[in-house]
Amino acid sequence: MRLNRLQSVMDQVVARNGNEPEFLQAAQEVLESLEPVAERNPEWVAAGIFDRIVEPERQILFRVAWVDDAGKVQVNRGFRVQFNSAIGPYKGGLRFHPSVNLGIIKFLGFEQIFKNSLTGLPIGGGKGGSDFNPKGRSDGEIMRFCQSFMTELQRHIGPDTDVPAGDIGVGGREIGFMYGQYKRIRNDFTGVLTGKGIGWGGSLARTEATGYGLCYFMEEAMKPGGLSFDGATVVISGSGNVAIYATEKATQMGAKVVALSDSNGYIHDPDGIDLPLVKEIKEIRKGRIREYLAAHPAATYVDGCDGIWSIPCDIALPCATQNEIDGQAAALLVRNGCKAVGEGANMPSTPEAIECYLANGVVYGPAKAANAGGVATSALEMSQNSMRYSWTFEEVDRKLHQIMVDIHTQARSAAAEYGDPDNLMLGANIAGFLKVARAMYAQGIAY
Ligand code: NDP
Repeated sequence: MRLNRLQSVMDQVVARNGNEPEFLQAAQEVLESLEPVAERNPEWVAAGIFDRIVEPERQILFRVAWVDDAGKVQVNRGFRVQFNSAIGPYKGGLRFHPSVNLGIIKFLGFEQIFKNSLTGLPIGGGKGGSDFNPKGRSDGEIMRFCQSFMTELQRHIGPDTDVPAGDIGVGGREIGFMYGQYKRIRNDFTGVLTGKGIGWGGSLARTEATGYGLCYFMEEAMKPGGLSFDGATVVISGSGNVAIYATEKATQMGAKVVALSDSNGYIHDPDGIDLPLVKEIKEIRKGRIREYLAAHPAATYVDGCDGIWSIPCDIALPCATQNEIDGQAAALLVRNGCKAVGEGANMPSTPEAIECYLANGVVYGPAKAANAGGVATSALEMSQNSMRYSWTFEEVDRKLHQIMVDIHTQARSAAAEYGDPDNLMLGANIAGFLKVARAMYAQGIAY
């Protein structure tokens, strides 16, 4: 689909953010989906809803100085983009990875607006992070970095203002260090971060939520085509939080997961991945995926992570990073019989890959819908913090499951209402947008 009514909005996005390719990619995809919405709602066009939604409410950039184990001063850059607060406090993770820049944080924050809306919970969209590389750093270095990062970030966030969480490179350890520093400075024990430890405000099932939620969503998405995880061969990229718990749930649902990766390469184990071993390597030892071979010599390890999509599978779950499946990889997946792609990572498919899925009748679960279980459970953590009460694992998991079923229903019915019933990307973009647009319209423009 090409832009028509919303072309001038996109032109302005390009003029302002020309050097941010990931943000341009995310904005183009969403605006294309919103063309028919603009046509039906001229009052939203007149009120500048589309022009406003692509511009963050606030962008914060800051210096993060810290001292490494050798006593050398290191300087990183910190980011927090508070994109949209129409339906609730800004909410979205923090990413620590050397590739982080403002454009990446903006694409993630922009996607987060629609994802958070789809959860049905009152949370706005935001994202943050740093170009800090945690790999090879000692616990002491990670702690000092996190403390320095939070010393600045704390003045911009709060339980009713902006509630960050984890993302790539930010797990329980980092959230702990940042929460400790927030509390030290503010003297407040509040739910200002999610992904906290059990026993000090964390929610049961938050660790599992994104991966589990992805499988719950895909189970629904595949039903109309008579597909399911039961008996399916599944390839999953990454071996971090999302990949590990997607592997766990897909396996519980009867699938055989045969491959996982990290940024160095991938393992292929046709007998099915030994997940307890992967958890030990990645969660405890913080090692590399190739260490899997020491215990499973019959499995293979291939250097470079792109080749993972050449492994034949019924279902592919990209759970590593953005743009990891391009048009060629998508064509290869389809040629090898892949019938469904569910996005655990954010924007893991290029526009050419998405075109390939849609043209070939592949069931496509877009990230904003399929991986929304993580932020949904973070919002459940916020609710528990406000109530000063904790739900059981089963209770949170049951709520998560229902939320993913509801997200699928919303996406499918919006897609049907706008004339393309199986296009869950169109449906998710539209359904996520409608709630935010109504709120922005009702709240007026600041003259
Ligand atoms: P983790 O840091 O736990 O794991 C990331 C995994 O992806 C690692 O295996 C990592 O390998 C690999 N990876 C990272 N960057 C690259 C790269 N440039 N090329 C190839 N592989 C890479 O992160 P998460 O599992 O939390 O996040 C994974 C994806 O899921 C991200 O896109 C994130 O935005 C998204 N997501 C996460 C949510 C959450 O709740 N955690 C919620 C919703 C979406 P290595 O160890 O070598 O770096």
